[in-house]
Amino acid sequence: MNDATVGARAAQMPTNPEGGFPAQQQDLPGRTRDMDPVPDHGEQTYRGSDRLKGLRALITGGDSGIGRAVAIAFAREGADVALSYLPEEQHDAEETASWVRETAQTVVLCPGDLTDRDTCRDVVENAADGLGGIDVLVNNAGVQWARDEGLEDLSPERIDRVLKTNLYALLWLTQAALPHLHEGASIINVSSIQAYQPSTSLLDYAATKAGINNFTVNLAAELGPKGIRVNAVAPGPIWTPLQPATQDEEKIEAFGADTPLGRAGQPAECASAFVFLAAPSEASYVSGTVVGVTGGKPVF
Ligand code: NAD
Ligand code: MG
Repeated sequence: MNDATVGARAAQMPTNPEGGFPAQQQDLPGRTRDMDPVPDHGEQTYRGSDRLKGLRALITGGDSGIGRAVAIAFAREGADVALSYLPEEQHDAEETASWVRETAQTVVLCPGDLTDRDTCRDVVENAADGLGGIDVLVNNAGVQWARDEGLEDLSPERIDRVLKTNLYALLWLTQAALPHLHEGASIINVSSIQAYQPSTSLLDYAATKAGINNFTVNLAAELGPKGIRVNAVAPGPIWTPLQPATQDEEKIEAFGADTPLGRAGQPAECASAFVFLAAPSEASYVSGTVVGVTGGKPVF
């Protein structure tokens, strides 16, 4: 690549908005249409080339943010997808589904609150019924809250919601999916830079992400003999509805500016890591590892 090509590529890189992101806040679960600017999920840019042809994937939190970008990329690579999300996120889920339908791949909608074990089982069964099986489980649903109060005021409800969404649901979904997974299948968990560089304000959340890394390595050891690979993606600061729904307005303005690349990432920039890990012909010997998509922050 010559210098002019490199320069032209760099000029196309996304940047944070001039002066930072506009201060903004919304309630959980966040909504894509209320974000300013609306994130880039690869709608206009992701080009597929049959890398996941014939695979069937369940993507939790597939309505918005990173999950939407993964759904669009998977569908354009030839996979059928099932999307799990909270019932109040139907609008976002429908929009993701319409991008999948545009590729002529099958999309199955599986609303339900994953903090309930029976719901996790139902979501997996609905996905398997609708897709005719499951080859890839993407455990992407997650929740955080930036904490102002001291540890003594961290409420039991919040601790329950963070741990149940991020850890319990991941175990429950994986248990329910196991009978459907076969040799060549894979699981992709979503970790975070918070597993490596925990912020005090995200104490409970960061611990769940460290737990997800540990779980990923151990599950890879358990399922390896069955020919099932287990990996994780650890995003850095990515512009998704989770952020304005759970961080202070002032933090949003400078979101991602503290990374070596100096900006937040877009959901679209995470999708290729998931495609690689899901592709049996490309990642056939990749298991028990964590791929960082962090804008340069270290994942070790
Ligand atoms: P997002 O809000 O777009 O996606 C999170 C999704 O989780 C929601 O859309 C929702 O459908 C799902 N979810 C949450 N609670 C649920 C519940 N009880 N039942 C069912 N579904 C539930 O935000 P995102 O940033 O794309 O988050 C996706 C994953 O990425 C999360 O695991 C998050 O921790 C992780 N992550 C995000 C960032 C970031 O900066 N955005 C950084 C590191 C890791
Ligand atoms: Mg959502």
